[in-house]
Amino acid sequence: MSQVFDLLILGSNSAKPAYDRHPTAQLLNVQHRLYLVDCGEGTQMRLAENGVKSSKIDAIFISHLHGDHFLGLLPLLDSFNLMGRQHPLHLIGPPDLIKIIDLHKEVCKARFLYPIHFIPIKDTENAGRVYEDEMISVDTIPMDHRVPCTGFLFREQPKERNILKAKIEEYQIPFQQIKAIKKGADFECESGEIIPNAELTLAPKPRRAYAYCSDTAYFEAIIPQIQAVDLLYHESTYLEDMTHLAAERGHATAKEAARIAFKAQAKKLLIGHFSSRYADLSGFEKEARDVFPNSFLALEGKTFNINNS
Ligand SMILES: [Zn+2]
Repeated sequence: MSQVFDLLILGSNSAKPAYDRHPTAQLLNVQHRLYLVDCGEGTQMRLAENGVKSSKIDAIFISHLHGDHFLGLLPLLDSFNLMGRQHPLHLIGPPDLIKIIDLHKEVCKARFLYPIHFIPIKDTENAGRVYEDEMISVDTIPMDHRVPCTGFLFREQPKERNILKAKIEEYQIPFQQIKAIKKGADFECESGEIIPNAELTLAPKPRRAYAYCSDTAYFEAIIPQIQAVDLLYHESTYLEDMTHLAAERGHATAKEAARIAFKAQAKKLLIGHFSSRYADLSGFEKEARDVFPNSFLALEGKTFNINNS
């Protein structure tokens, strides 16, 4: 049975709300652990609309301090308080993010009743581990933007090997030894015979990975890090006729996003962070699919399932 690894798009517009699209926010669900990726204005409303119990969010990742990626954060932190949250929140983002929160606390006399474990991303030039729990590890992906900015690579933790029930019976394997065998140990029978682990277990499914790349200009340096990722989200603020403007503003076009996906041999591409100048998004899908057929628009309310079963 496949385990949950889902991405819900909460907001996919750049700069400001337009055409019923909202600033960037995504929710990653890994085995019912919830991780919020960026938090544009109105994110808590999008969470409610999508039936997400926001108090269950364990960690929030902020890519950079442009307003369309974090201005929904303070209201969400305040609401956690109103909901009586007590369990800790992990907050990962640019070092100055904590200054904004501290100012809010000082000026607005806001008091958070739950601990915020803030992890500042000090190095935006090199990839590095910024978060880890039982379900996932998260590394930064250096982006090429107008201000310090990082994407995030979410990867499942290594899984245990699957022990074969028939072998447990055949070799009368005691319950206490199963854990070690799942981690790769051989089994010694009472007779002294060693049964190699490969006979007792099946390899686990490959670890799934999601790469979030926003905001960035076309930047090939990220390709080795996101190689063969299961799902790649890459910003595509503009269409091809705006390539020059995109580069100037530290953004990418749909074709450029698709080129990155193609070169990285990603399995699937999502594009988003659409400029408010576009009412109709069909051109984005077309331009991306011309280069990388397995491309999809990151439309709000849509859930993308990463399934490796
Ligand atoms: Zn930006």
